[in-house]
Amino acid sequence: MSAPFKKLALIGIGLIGSSIALAARRQGLADVIAISTRKAETLDEARELGLGDIYTLDAADAVRGADLVILCTPVGAYESVMRAIAPALEKGAILSDVGSVKGHVVKVLAPLVPEGVHLIPGHPIAGTEHSGPSAGFAELFAGRWCVLTPGAEVDPAQTERLAGFWRAMGSQVETMDAAHHDMVLAITSHIPHLVAYNIVGTVADLEAATQSEVIKFSASGFRDFTRIAASDPVMWRDVFLTNRDAVLEMLGRFSEDLSVLQRAVRTGDGPALETMFTRTRAIRRSIISAGQETAAPDFGRPHEATPAPVSPVILREHGGGDDA
Ligand code: NAP
Repeated sequence: MSAPFKKLALIGIGLIGSSIALAARRQGLADVIAISTRKAETLDEARELGLGDIYTLDAADAVRGADLVILCTPVGAYESVMRAIAPALEKGAILSDVGSVKGHVVKVLAPLVPEGVHLIPGHPIAGTEHSGPSAGFAELFAGRWCVLTPGAEVDPAQTERLAGFWRAMGSQVETMDAAHHDMVLAITSHIPHLVAYNIVGTVADLEAATQSEVIKFSASGFRDFTRIAASDPVMWRDVFLTNRDAVLEMLGRFSEDLSVLQRAVRTGDGPALETMFTRTRAIRRSIISAGQETAAPDFGRPHEATPAPVSPVILREHGGGDDA
């Protein structure tokens, strides 16, 4: 049986690009996988990992003859990548991406898309704090959502073709308007990252003695912010540069709510704090029931077995305890 796509071209081969390469290969979604990236050493790494069939530093070369092209670079690189590949895109090809913002992507890509190429932007809501070709794994998209934001002019059959590609990699697919995507993602992803960058940044500015105490006692909450704040700086710079309006809108609401909490703390308003914390606990429960998080305590981190309690008899035999 032939694969759904004859040639898949991945431009950018970091965490997301390499995960697509591995999942597409495992599921037999393309006869040929072509990989292109900016740096020779990154391309060599991808080749050593065996992520594709064709490796090239020339993005136009990679997309030539491809019926599915997915941009997997930081969003800030899209315009220059698109200028390089546009003349080589094949009529009838689907051009997609995985960028974390969508309105800006449409604004940059749409004017450069050649006649007959179907632009269907996408965003897999899946990731980790790791980057580069070796960070990818085939299961990254399993059980996660992928949002597609086709414009009104796109043939629904082409959107369905791309949706089928993501479903085959384990994703659930939803289509929506690019502006709506950006507003939803501003609060579910972009603001949480900004808050994490801010809280970890505050610690970085503390004097050395306090900082070492924060690190020592980090398991009390701070540690979980550091995972998010360790995300790729270039990718996240681009997210905030390109989703400015939605982020500022949601940040306004966030600041208002923070002031309400600040007031409750200052005035010792216990009932207000308890009501708020009860509502937020319910949201975590609903994320677990939706299968988007593990119910295991502490995010399912493995914990070393606690040493068995030492009985007084053993203590006595070893000369320990009160009798010693
Ligand atoms: P990554 O691991 O840092 O990989 C980025 C890739 O893009 C690398 O192969 C890099 O290669 C290449 N690249 C960077 N600048 C380039 C340029 N100017 N021209 C050509 N290639 C270039 O990043 P990632 O996490 O996979 O993110 C890629 C995209 O996925 C971003 O748009 C991001 O918004 C989106 N996304 C990320 C996540 C996440 O959790 N990480 C989740 C969903 C969506 P070189 O080493 O050759 O520069």
